Amino acid sequence: MRKIGFIGLGIMGKPMSKNLLEAGHQVVVYDLEAAPVLELAAAGAGTASSPKEVAERSDVIITMVPNSPHVKAAVLGPGGVIEGAAPGALVIDMSSIDPIVAREVGAALAKRSIRFLDAPVSGGEPKAIEGTLSIMVGGAEGDFEEALPVLKSMGASVVRCGDVGAGNVTKLANQIIVAVNIAALGEALVLATKCGVDPRQVFQAIRGGLAGSAVMEAKAPMALARNIKPGFRINLHIKDLNNALAAGHEVGAPLPLTAQLMEMMQALKVDGLGEADHGAVIRYHEKLAAVEVKEKSS
Ligand code: NAD
Repeated sequence: MRKIGFIGLGIMGKPMSKNLLEAGHQVVVYDLEAAPVLELAAAGAGTASSPKEVAERSDVIITMVPNSPHVKAAVLGPGGVIEGAAPGALVIDMSSIDPIVAREVGAALAKRSIRFLDAPVSGGEPKAIEGTLSIMVGGAEGDFEEALPVLKSMGASVVRCGDVGAGNVTKLANQIIVAVNIAALGEALVLATKCGVDPRQVFQAIRGGLAGSAVMEAKAPMALARNIKPGFRINLHIKDLNNALAAGHEVGAPLPLTAQLMEMMQALKVDGLGEADHGAVIRYHEKLAAVEVKEKSS
């Protein structure tokens, strides 16, 4: 059993911290919002009034907040984790952020002998609830081995990808592949519909072949049902593509497909779909072709 601090109790952080409690850890939580803190307190967590206090009361401190500036604020800002953590403490950022910022945060903590892992996740709210997330980790081998039992309380797959920052580089790779797959699916189903072929039959015929994918299994049924309830929101995917483009520019890796997806998602945001599921990318193709993809009634 570990003394674990958890900062950021949103869609993902709330179920993840509940799974740590269920695994028998002692958990102390903090969020800018009161409601999820009260919910975790009712489930058995201790509560703190700042990230600094969370760190003072924990050996392992986890952050799960939206993006790079939020991580910097919670970890390095006034009243942040860095002010409360003892030398030797282990900070694990599980948010999806710019890998360059992850390295900056790790370096600032290292100056105080505080250890750091970046460990973003894939799988969304359902897998956060089940405790079956995929977790991609960057950091020192020894820190990874120590964190493994804690991370296994939240994830089914936990893989070390390299040094600090490698977790977020892997997550960006994941987000590029997911975005481009969703767009390919949308484009293909719009073509089929315009050609008068039932998109349900197209999905059934190709799902077992080379074009089949986890993205297709998740998003084709949603497209056919015209369901755009999130899930993973377009606005968050824009954030990830922004981080991918920034990292690509920094290291000299042009990302033409990512840039195209960014502009498509920007158009959808302007059209009022920023809070819709990223599967709503198909609406972009539908507008271009003036058609709606849906299941044909038999
Ligand atoms: P969310 O917006 O639901 O939750 C974020 C929480 O962080 C909020 O409760 C907010 O109040 C809190 N917060 C923000 N700044 C804070 C600060 N300085 N101190 C303390 N708390 C602070 O977001 P989410 O969907 O839970 O996503 C969290 C991270 O996980 C993001 O980086 C996201 O990209 C990533 N992620 C999300 C999903 C998903 O399906 N939602 C899937 C995989 C990864």
